[in-house]
Amino acid sequence: MEKENITKEYTNGEITIVWKASKCIHSGNCVKGSPDVFQPKTKPWVKPNASPTEQIIKTIDTCPSGALSYYYNDGREG
Ligand code: SF4
Repeated sequence: MEKENITKEYTNGEITIVWKASKCIHSGNCVKGSPDVFQPKTKPWVKPNASPTEQIIKTIDTCPSGALSYYYNDGREG
């Protein structure tokens, strides 16, 4: 399956989760870390309101490929 060169953004109002499809190596760390938020079998596959922001950030930090990142909507540094 060819990887699509797309970037998707999902926000909970406080942070925006950024996902770069072409970088994802499907390690599943995100799904293991926050199964309520990262649900690859549903659309959209990221549910940014399903867990507290802190939990989401912790999980994003475990992404080995850099496919997942985030920024604060108010511009503050993480
Ligand atoms: S943790 Fe990162 S590389 Fe692994 S499946 Fe999730 S987005 Fe893809």
